[in-house]
Amino acid sequence: MKSSVIPIFIPHLGCPNDCIFCNQRRIAAPKTPSADEVTKLISKALEHSQDPQISFYGGSFTCISADLQESYLSAAFEFVEKGLADSLRISTRPDAIDGDVLARLKKYGVKTIELGAQSMDDEVLALARRGHTAQDTEKSSKMIKAAGFELILQIMPGLPASNREKDIETAKKVAALKPDGVRIYPVCVIKDTTLCDMYEKGEYTPLTPDDAAELCAEIWDVFMDNDIPIIRTGLNPTEELSEGAAVAGAYHPAMGQLVRSAWLFNKACALIDKHINEQRLIISVPKGKLSDMRGQKNSNIERLSQRYPNITFAVYESNDQKEPIKVSKV
Ligand code: SF4
Repeated sequence: MKSSVIPIFIPHLGCPNDCIFCNQRRIAAPKTPSADEVTKLISKALEHSQDPQISFYGGSFTCISADLQESYLSAAFEFVEKGLADSLRISTRPDAIDGDVLARLKKYGVKTIELGAQSMDDEVLALARRGHTAQDTEKSSKMIKAAGFELILQIMPGLPASNREKDIETAKKVAALKPDGVRIYPVCVIKDTTLCDMYEKGEYTPLTPDDAAELCAEIWDVFMDNDIPIIRTGLNPTEELSEGAAVAGAYHPAMGQLVRSAWLFNKACALIDKHINEQRLIISVPKGKLSDMRGQKNSNIERLSQRYPNITFAVYESNDQKEPIKVSKV
Protein backbone atom coordinates (compact mmCIF):
# COMPACT_ATOMS: atom_id res chain seq x y z
CA MET A 1 0.00 0.00 0.00
CA LYS A 2 2.71 2.43 0.96
CA SER A 3 4.72 4.05 -1.83
CA SER A 4 7.35 6.66 -1.12
CA VAL A 5 7.57 8.23 -4.59
CA ILE A 6 4.95 9.49 -7.07
CA PRO A 7 6.76 9.77 -10.42
CA ILE A 8 5.58 12.36 -12.95
CA PHE A 9 7.31 12.03 -16.33
CA ILE A 10 8.07 15.21 -18.26
CA PRO A 11 9.49 13.84 -21.51
CA HIS A 12 12.25 15.87 -23.18
CA LEU A 13 10.30 19.03 -22.43
CA GLY A 14 12.31 22.18 -22.83
CA CYS A 15 15.63 20.42 -23.16
CA PRO A 16 17.85 22.36 -25.56
CA ASN A 17 20.26 19.44 -25.90
CA ASP A 18 20.51 16.39 -28.05
CA CYS A 19 22.62 13.92 -26.09
CA ILE A 20 23.69 11.04 -28.30
CA PHE A 21 22.11 8.40 -26.06
CA CYS A 22 18.79 10.11 -25.48
CA ASN A 23 15.38 9.41 -26.86
CA GLN A 24 13.20 10.44 -23.97
CA ARG A 25 10.03 9.55 -25.82
CA ARG A 26 11.05 5.92 -25.80
CA ILE A 27 11.89 5.61 -22.16
CA ALA A 28 9.32 7.95 -20.62
CA ALA A 29 5.66 8.81 -21.15
CA PRO A 30 5.07 9.92 -24.75
CA LYS A 31 2.90 12.92 -23.89
CA THR A 32 3.80 15.90 -21.75
CA PRO A 33 1.14 16.36 -19.05
CA SER A 34 -0.59 19.66 -18.32
CA ALA A 35 -0.58 21.08 -14.78
CA ASP A 36 -4.20 19.88 -14.39
CA GLU A 37 -3.20 16.40 -15.47
CA VAL A 38 -0.37 16.49 -12.94
CA THR A 39 -2.92 17.29 -10.22
CA LYS A 40 -5.10 14.37 -11.34
CA LEU A 41 -2.13 11.98 -11.54
CA ILE A 42 -1.03 12.88 -8.02
CA SER A 43 -4.59 12.61 -6.61
CA LYS A 44 -4.94 9.14 -8.09
CA ALA A 45 -1.50 7.98 -6.95
CA LEU A 46 -2.27 9.20 -3.42
CA GLU A 47 -4.97 6.53 -3.16
CA HIS A 48 -2.06 4.07 -2.84
CA SER A 49 0.63 6.22 -1.23
CA GLN A 50 1.32 7.70 2.15
CA ASP A 51 3.41 10.82 2.59
CA PRO A 52 5.20 10.40 -0.76
CA GLN A 53 7.75 12.54 -2.49
CA ILE A 54 6.36 13.85 -5.80
CA SER A 55 9.11 13.46 -8.39
CA PHE A 56 9.36 15.16 -11.77
CA TYR A 57 11.49 12.82 -13.88
CA GLY A 58 12.34 12.26 -17.50
CA GLY A 59 13.62 15.58 -18.78
CA SER A 60 15.51 18.66 -17.73
CA PHE A 61 13.01 20.28 -15.42
CA THR A 62 14.78 23.59 -14.90
CA CYS A 63 15.22 24.08 -18.68
CA ILE A 64 11.45 24.49 -19.01
CA SER A 65 10.11 28.07 -19.14
CA ALA A 66 9.86 29.62 -15.68
CA ASP A 67 6.04 29.91 -16.04
CA LEU A 68 5.59 26.25 -16.82
CA GLN A 69 7.94 25.23 -14.01
CA GLU A 70 5.84 27.31 -11.62
CA SER A 71 2.58 25.77 -12.83
CA TYR A 72 3.90 22.23 -12.33
CA LEU A 73 5.52 23.06 -9.01
CA SER A 74 2.49 24.86 -7.61
CA ALA A 75 0.17 22.00 -8.70
CA ALA A 76 2.37 19.53 -6.82
CA PHE A 77 3.14 21.81 -3.87
CA GLU A 78 -0.58 22.07 -3.03
CA PHE A 79 -0.41 18.45 -1.91
CA VAL A 80 2.59 19.22 0.31
CA GLU A 81 0.78 22.20 1.86
CA LYS A 82 -2.25 20.04 2.60
CA GLY A 83 -0.01 17.53 4.35
CA LEU A 84 -0.71 14.82 1.76
CA ALA A 85 2.82 14.66 0.34
CA ASP A 86 6.21 15.04 1.95
CA SER A 87 8.08 17.12 -0.63
CA LEU A 88 9.02 17.47 -4.29
CA ARG A 89 11.95 16.15 -6.31
CA ILE A 90 13.15 17.22 -9.75
CA SER A 91 15.83 16.05 -12.15
CA THR A 92 17.81 18.34 -14.40
CA ARG A 93 21.13 19.13 -16.07
CA PRO A 94 24.23 20.46 -14.27
CA ASP A 95 24.26 23.63 -16.39
CA ALA A 96 20.61 24.44 -15.66
CA ILE A 97 21.14 25.47 -12.03
CA ASP A 98 21.64 29.01 -10.75
CA GLY A 99 20.56 31.12 -7.77
CA ASP A 100 17.15 32.04 -9.26
CA VAL A 101 16.41 28.44 -10.17
CA LEU A 102 17.26 27.23 -6.66
CA ALA A 103 15.16 30.00 -5.07
CA ARG A 104 12.15 28.93 -7.15
CA LEU A 105 12.60 25.27 -6.25
CA LYS A 106 12.94 26.13 -2.57
CA LYS A 107 9.76 28.24 -2.64
CA TYR A 108 7.74 25.25 -3.85
CA GLY A 109 8.98 22.68 -1.38
CA VAL A 110 11.50 20.89 -3.58
CA LYS A 111 13.69 18.83 -1.28
CA THR A 112 15.75 16.74 -3.70
CA ILE A 113 17.55 17.69 -6.92
CA GLU A 114 18.95 15.03 -9.24
CA LEU A 115 21.66 16.01 -11.69
CA GLY A 116 22.67 13.99 -14.73
CA ALA A 117 26.44 14.22 -14.34
CA GLN A 118 26.97 11.18 -16.62
CA SER A 119 30.79 11.50 -16.68
CA MET A 120 33.41 13.70 -15.05
CA ASP A 121 35.63 13.50 -18.13
CA ASP A 122 35.23 16.48 -20.47
CA GLU A 123 36.20 14.53 -23.60
CA VAL A 124 33.53 11.92 -22.86
CA LEU A 125 30.96 14.65 -22.12
CA ALA A 126 31.77 16.46 -25.40
CA LEU A 127 31.46 13.27 -27.47
CA ALA A 128 28.14 12.54 -25.79
CA ARG A 129 27.07 16.09 -26.79
CA ARG A 130 26.06 16.78 -23.22
CA GLY A 131 26.66 20.49 -23.61
CA HIS A 132 28.15 20.84 -20.11
CA THR A 133 31.48 20.17 -18.47
CA ALA A 134 32.61 18.35 -15.34
CA GLN A 135 33.20 21.77 -13.80
CA ASP A 136 29.48 22.60 -14.31
CA THR A 137 28.62 19.49 -12.30
CA GLU A 138 31.03 20.44 -9.53
CA LYS A 139 29.76 24.01 -9.35
CA SER A 140 26.05 23.19 -9.39
CA SER A 141 26.47 20.31 -6.92
CA LYS A 142 28.13 22.66 -4.44
CA MET A 143 25.40 25.29 -4.93
CA ILE A 144 22.65 22.70 -4.42
CA LYS A 145 24.20 21.41 -1.19
CA ALA A 146 24.95 24.91 0.09
CA ALA A 147 21.27 25.84 -0.46
CA GLY A 148 20.21 22.90 1.73
CA PHE A 149 18.76 20.55 -0.92
CA GLU A 150 19.41 16.82 -1.09
CA LEU A 151 21.68 16.09 -4.05
CA ILE A 152 21.46 12.93 -6.17
CA LEU A 153 23.99 12.45 -8.98
CA GLN A 154 23.52 10.16 -11.96
CA ILE A 155 26.40 8.63 -13.93
CA MET A 156 26.58 6.60 -17.16
CA PRO A 157 29.52 4.21 -17.36
CA GLY A 158 30.38 2.97 -20.86
CA LEU A 159 29.95 6.12 -22.97
CA PRO A 160 32.02 6.53 -26.17
CA ALA A 161 35.69 7.36 -25.43
CA SER A 162 35.27 6.23 -21.84
CA ASN A 163 36.90 3.16 -20.33
CA ARG A 164 37.18 1.43 -16.97
CA GLU A 165 39.74 3.92 -15.60
CA LYS A 166 37.71 6.96 -16.66
CA ASP A 167 34.48 5.52 -15.27
CA ILE A 168 36.11 4.67 -11.93
CA GLU A 169 37.66 8.15 -11.85
CA THR A 170 34.20 9.61 -12.54
CA ALA A 171 32.83 7.66 -9.57
CA LYS A 172 35.64 9.00 -7.35
CA LYS A 173 35.04 12.60 -8.45
CA VAL A 174 31.29 12.21 -7.95
CA ALA A 175 31.88 10.68 -4.48
CA ALA A 176 34.08 13.67 -3.61
CA LEU A 177 31.04 15.93 -4.16
CA LYS A 178 29.35 14.04 -1.28
CA PRO A 179 25.93 13.50 -2.88
CA ASP A 180 23.11 12.07 -0.78
CA GLY A 181 22.79 9.23 -3.29
CA VAL A 182 23.77 8.11 -6.77
CA ARG A 183 22.11 6.37 -9.67
CA ILE A 184 24.30 4.35 -12.01
CA TYR A 185 23.00 3.82 -15.52
CA PRO A 186 25.52 1.83 -17.60
CA VAL A 187 24.93 2.81 -21.22
CA CYS A 188 22.07 1.15 -23.02
CA VAL A 189 21.80 1.79 -26.79
CA ILE A 190 18.27 2.99 -27.48
CA LYS A 191 16.73 2.78 -30.95
CA ASP A 192 16.52 6.03 -32.94
CA THR A 193 19.39 7.76 -31.20
CA THR A 194 22.73 9.00 -32.52
CA LEU A 195 24.39 6.39 -30.33
CA CYS A 196 22.38 3.70 -32.09
CA ASP A 197 23.59 5.03 -35.49
CA MET A 198 27.17 4.90 -34.20
CA TYR A 199 26.66 1.35 -32.95
CA GLU A 200 25.14 0.22 -36.26
CA LYS A 201 28.03 1.76 -38.22
CA GLY A 202 30.54 -0.02 -35.98
CA GLU A 203 31.79 3.28 -34.50
CA TYR A 204 30.84 2.38 -30.94
CA THR A 205 31.16 -0.86 -29.02
CA PRO A 206 28.83 -0.84 -26.02
CA LEU A 207 29.36 -2.70 -22.77
CA THR A 208 27.54 -6.02 -22.60
CA PRO A 209 25.34 -6.57 -19.52
CA ASP A 210 28.10 -8.77 -18.03
CA ASP A 211 30.81 -6.13 -18.76
CA ALA A 212 28.60 -3.51 -17.19
CA ALA A 213 27.99 -5.66 -14.12
CA GLU A 214 31.75 -6.10 -13.60
CA LEU A 215 32.39 -2.39 -13.98
CA CYS A 216 29.45 -1.34 -11.81
CA ALA A 217 30.62 -3.75 -9.08
CA GLU A 218 33.90 -1.79 -8.93
CA ILE A 219 32.02 1.51 -9.00
CA TRP A 220 29.83 0.27 -6.11
CA ASP A 221 32.99 -0.14 -4.03
CA VAL A 222 33.89 3.52 -4.60
CA PHE A 223 30.51 4.69 -3.34
CA MET A 224 30.27 2.16 -0.52
CA ASP A 225 33.74 3.14 0.73
CA ASN A 226 32.45 6.72 0.90
CA ASP A 227 29.10 5.78 2.56
CA ILE A 228 27.12 7.09 -0.41
CA PRO A 229 23.80 5.28 -0.96
CA ILE A 230 23.40 3.66 -4.40
CA ILE A 231 19.76 4.26 -5.22
CA ARG A 232 19.61 2.36 -8.50
CA THR A 233 21.83 0.54 -10.99
CA GLY A 234 20.55 0.04 -14.55
CA LEU A 235 17.47 1.31 -16.35
CA ASN A 236 14.09 0.29 -15.01
CA PRO A 237 13.03 -2.68 -17.12
CA THR A 238 10.03 -1.86 -19.32
CA GLU A 239 8.13 -3.81 -21.97
CA GLU A 240 9.22 -1.31 -24.60
CA LEU A 241 12.91 -1.68 -23.79
CA SER A 242 12.68 -5.46 -23.52
CA GLU A 243 10.77 -5.72 -26.81
CA GLY A 244 13.30 -3.95 -29.01
CA ALA A 245 13.84 -0.31 -27.98
CA ALA A 246 17.03 -1.39 -26.18
CA VAL A 247 19.10 -2.35 -29.22
CA ALA A 248 22.36 -3.19 -27.44
CA GLY A 249 24.45 -2.37 -24.41
CA ALA A 250 23.84 -2.74 -20.72
CA TYR A 251 20.13 -3.47 -20.65
CA HIS A 252 19.09 -6.47 -18.61
CA PRO A 253 15.83 -6.90 -16.69
CA ALA A 254 17.86 -8.04 -13.67
CA MET A 255 20.84 -5.68 -13.95
CA GLY A 256 20.80 -5.04 -10.20
CA GLN A 257 21.19 -8.74 -9.51
CA LEU A 258 24.00 -9.08 -12.09
CA VAL A 259 25.89 -6.32 -10.29
CA ARG A 260 25.25 -7.76 -6.83
CA SER A 261 26.55 -11.12 -8.06
CA ALA A 262 29.65 -9.57 -9.64
CA TRP A 263 30.29 -7.59 -6.45
CA LEU A 264 29.98 -10.71 -4.26
CA PHE A 265 32.24 -12.64 -6.65
CA ASN A 266 34.98 -10.01 -6.25
CA LYS A 267 34.57 -10.04 -2.46
CA ALA A 268 34.65 -13.85 -2.40
CA CYS A 269 37.89 -13.93 -4.44
CA ALA A 270 39.58 -11.41 -2.13
CA LEU A 271 38.69 -13.58 0.89
CA ILE A 272 39.51 -16.91 -0.78
CA ASP A 273 42.96 -15.61 -1.73
CA LYS A 274 43.75 -15.62 2.01
CA HIS A 275 42.95 -19.38 2.19
CA ILE A 276 44.55 -20.39 -1.07
CA ASN A 277 46.06 -23.63 0.28
CA GLU A 278 42.76 -25.03 1.62
CA GLN A 279 40.91 -27.82 -0.15
CA ARG A 280 37.43 -26.99 1.12
CA LEU A 281 35.96 -23.63 2.03
CA ILE A 282 32.57 -22.44 3.23
CA ILE A 283 31.16 -19.25 1.75
CA SER A 284 28.30 -17.77 3.75
CA VAL A 285 26.06 -14.82 2.96
CA PRO A 286 23.12 -13.25 4.83
CA LYS A 287 19.65 -14.71 4.42
CA GLY A 288 18.14 -13.83 1.05
CA LYS A 289 21.51 -13.34 -0.67
CA LEU A 290 22.15 -16.94 -1.74
CA SER A 291 21.00 -16.51 -5.34
CA ASP A 292 23.07 -13.32 -5.68
CA MET A 293 26.12 -15.27 -4.45
CA ARG A 294 25.49 -18.18 -6.79
CA GLY A 295 24.90 -15.86 -9.75
CA GLN A 296 22.51 -16.42 -12.62
CA LYS A 297 22.59 -20.10 -13.66
CA ASN A 298 25.23 -20.69 -10.95
CA SER A 299 27.71 -18.59 -12.94
CA ASN A 300 29.61 -17.40 -9.85
CA ILE A 301 30.12 -20.94 -8.60
CA GLU A 302 31.40 -22.04 -12.01
CA ARG A 303 33.78 -19.08 -12.17
CA LEU A 304 35.07 -19.82 -8.67
CA SER A 305 35.69 -23.46 -9.62
CA GLN A 306 37.63 -22.38 -12.72
CA ARG A 307 39.65 -19.82 -10.81
CA TYR A 308 40.35 -22.10 -7.83
CA PRO A 309 40.38 -25.63 -9.33
CA ASN A 310 41.91 -27.15 -6.18
CA ILE A 311 39.26 -25.85 -3.78
CA THR A 312 35.73 -27.20 -3.27
CA PHE A 313 33.16 -24.64 -2.14
CA ALA A 314 30.03 -25.01 -0.04
CA VAL A 315 27.75 -21.96 -0.14
CA TYR A 316 25.26 -21.26 2.65
CA GLU A 317 23.04 -18.48 3.85
CA SER A 318 23.07 -17.54 7.47
CA ASN A 319 20.17 -16.05 9.46
CA ASP A 320 22.21 -13.80 11.70
CA GLN A 321 25.13 -12.78 9.49
CA LYS A 322 25.80 -9.03 9.32
CA GLU A 323 28.80 -9.05 6.94
CA PRO A 324 27.87 -9.28 3.23
CA ILE A 325 30.07 -12.36 2.83
CA LYS A 326 32.29 -14.65 4.95
CA VAL A 327 34.74 -17.32 3.85
CA SER A 328 35.84 -19.91 6.39
CA LYS A 329 37.64 -23.23 6.58
CA VAL A 330 35.55 -26.37 6.96
S1 SF4 B 1 19.87 16.65 -21.32
FE1 SF4 B 1 18.58 14.94 -20.72
S2 SF4 B 1 16.61 15.27 -21.76
FE2 SF4 B 1 18.14 16.58 -22.74
S3 SF4 B 1 18.85 15.41 -24.51
FE3 SF4 B 1 20.26 15.04 -22.81
S4 SF4 B 1 19.50 13.21 -21.75
FE4 SF4 B 1 17.86 13.97 -23.10
